[in-house]
Amino acid sequence: MPRPIAATIHTDALAHNLRRARQAAPNARVWAVVKANAYGHGIERAYAGLSGADGFALLDLDEAQRVRDLGWRGPILLLEGCFESRDLELCSRLDLWHVVHHEAQIDMLAAHKTQAPHRVFLKMNSGMNRLGFRPQHYRAAWQRLSGLTQVDEITLMTHFADADGEGGVAAQVEAFEAATRELPGERSLSNSAATLRFCGGEGDAAQLAADWVRPGIMVYGSAPDFPAHDAAGWGLQPAMTLAAKLIAIQPLQPGDRVGYGGSFTASEPMRIGVVACGYADGYPRVAPTGTPVLVDGVRTRTVGRVSMDMITVDLTPVPSAALGSEVTLWGCGPNGSVLAIDEVARSAGTVGYELMCALAPRVPVSVA
Ligand SMILES: *Cc1c(COP(=O)(O)O)cnc(C)c1O
Repeated sequence: MPRPIAATIHTDALAHNLRRARQAAPNARVWAVVKANAYGHGIERAYAGLSGADGFALLDLDEAQRVRDLGWRGPILLLEGCFESRDLELCSRLDLWHVVHHEAQIDMLAAHKTQAPHRVFLKMNSGMNRLGFRPQHYRAAWQRLSGLTQVDEITLMTHFADADGEGGVAAQVEAFEAATRELPGERSLSNSAATLRFCGGEGDAAQLAADWVRPGIMVYGSAPDFPAHDAAGWGLQPAMTLAAKLIAIQPLQPGDRVGYGGSFTASEPMRIGVVACGYADGYPRVAPTGTPVLVDGVRTRTVGRVSMDMITVDLTPVPSAALGSEVTLWGCGPNGSVLAIDEVARSAGTVGYELMCALAPRVPVSVA
């Protein structure tokens, strides 16, 4: 028998969450962001659930090739654009749209020989200071691009640094609007957090949704602004479940310690369960005692340190738990129970994004 651990990708949840993005920005087209192998879900596994998108946005050329291999003929956008001249040939061959965030990428385009001109997304650094042209240099970049025979339409784009936080988007929107006011072309601004929090509605909201939104994390069912909102509160469903089973049970007496370093000490008689999931499966090693977990759909907590292949959980709230009991590390448990990946992530001091992306290759994954 294989080790009792498995991940499941929920096609219906992906489709539902994508519809949720559409509902939040009803007049925009929707890029499903599938970088990092669809946030760890697997591009091929997520494709059925996300095929209602207007396009797929990602970073790696080989991921773009995989999306084409799945039969997708619609738009694909390279979010970091081309890294070297050769990449432009693949853009021509696979009909990829690409971000231009740097002068060197315009140089490459200017030297590129192509029959069909490329559709590009010109990125502004409106305050995040990662990729893009500063507002005062943006128009010159636009003019240079629009003079190239290699370039077709230019979409105006920026990315928010704090759409999920208290800072919000106002300052960046203002910088973007001021520098693009007289420029023609479609616009793309919003990630998941901006889509959920600021799109939908008239006026400013419509401007934020603009022509294309770029939801990533929300389509996988994690709340970008947890704990201010949780996934259920945003109407999102978990797209990934990580589940395992109890492979041993230990009765503890007061004073008994658990696991490496003995970091947990029982203060009264209790039972703990040993779960076939550890950090080599992608469960975060830093998750401390008290991290939420479901056993047979009942919420309990981890105790002691996460080891490579196992974690230990408190069975006090689940007296019926036995060898083989189902343990939900995150996602959907038995009888309609749910454990949000964001709760586990928060306990481990990180975000749902990182846990999804870190699902380890040794975990078998199926699509439901
Ligand atoms: C990753 C990414 C997104 C999606 O962000 P989420 O927070 O996952 O919604 C959108 N736009 C760009 C440029 C990105 O790199």
